[in-house]
Amino acid sequence: MKFKTMCTVACMAMFGAGLAQAQGYPTKTITMIVPFAAGGPTDTVARLVAQSMGNTLKQQIIIENVGGAGGTIGAARVAKAAPDGYTIFLHHIGHSTAPSLYRKLSYNAQNDFETIGLVTDVPMTLVARKDFPAKDFKELLAYVKANKDKVTYAHAGLGSASHLCGMLLQTAIGVDLTTVAYKGTGPAMNDLLGGQVDIMCDQTTNTTSQIKGGKIKVYGVTTKAPLAALPGVPTLASSGLPNFEVAVWHGMYAPKGTPKQVIDTLSNALRGALKDPTVKQRFADLGTEPVADERARPEALRAHVKSEIDRWGPIIHKAGAYAD
Ligand code: ASP
Repeated sequence: MKFKTMCTVACMAMFGAGLAQAQGYPTKTITMIVPFAAGGPTDTVARLVAQSMGNTLKQQIIIENVGGAGGTIGAARVAKAAPDGYTIFLHHIGHSTAPSLYRKLSYNAQNDFETIGLVTDVPMTLVARKDFPAKDFKELLAYVKANKDKVTYAHAGLGSASHLCGMLLQTAIGVDLTTVAYKGTGPAMNDLLGGQVDIMCDQTTNTTSQIKGGKIKVYGVTTKAPLAALPGVPTLASSGLPNFEVAVWHGMYAPKGTPKQVIDTLSNALRGALKDPTVKQRFADLGTEPVADERARPEALRAHVKSEIDRWGPIIHKAGAYAD
């Protein structure tokens, strides 16, 4: 009885401290972990949103790039971080494919995270180095089939969106390519620009300006309809790969146990950022747009992660792609 009373007092003191902390939140710089290298598409989305959220919260949000193993190294770091609101996480669709792709993960993608909200859905593009010898998708297909031992495909590791898109592409065209893994498609793009790798499938947030600048070739977009940001670029579905559709959604998370008040504060700041005209314009220039307001909420992302894990599991198992 005495123990119970002491515990109650101690627990209440702890709860009170947590609440006070949550009420004053944020009082210092917040770190946003991005599980890919700097300069890539996830990093670009994170920096745009973090800047605007930081303005709202009146505290800086700094980006820490923790790349490697398709985003799972960064995710593992966040799962073990203090749940105090000063470590948050921006990841993409890979958060829902990793549980099926990796035989062993040191974290649980659903249970070890609080969800803050969805951020954006980004189309992908099939691109190649500037001097790749194919002028359209039909020629690319013929070239790849004839030179499958020579052609290299760049991606950001098993579980990354570029890997997923490449896996679907190789299955669709029935060709196995030599793949080259990077810590993110920022560095992969540098090698594509330098001609060290041949092709890649990546988000428009990384490829649009290089395509428009004539620095790389583009063969198609992975959406159902062509994109306003890339006029004249056909869909892969209309180029001979019916039903080929991939969109990369981004979500924001915090470690499990982060107080609800803190999550709500972050979610409100995220929803504000997605209405910020500067963010909206940059997103539009990069071929994407913010998600609708009701999706940028904790419960919407929680439900989305679950449904995506359920959706990708059978597809990945069928493709037989696993890592330990
Ligand atoms: N676009 C990358 C991917 O393939 C990741 C990145 O660098 O943002 O998942």
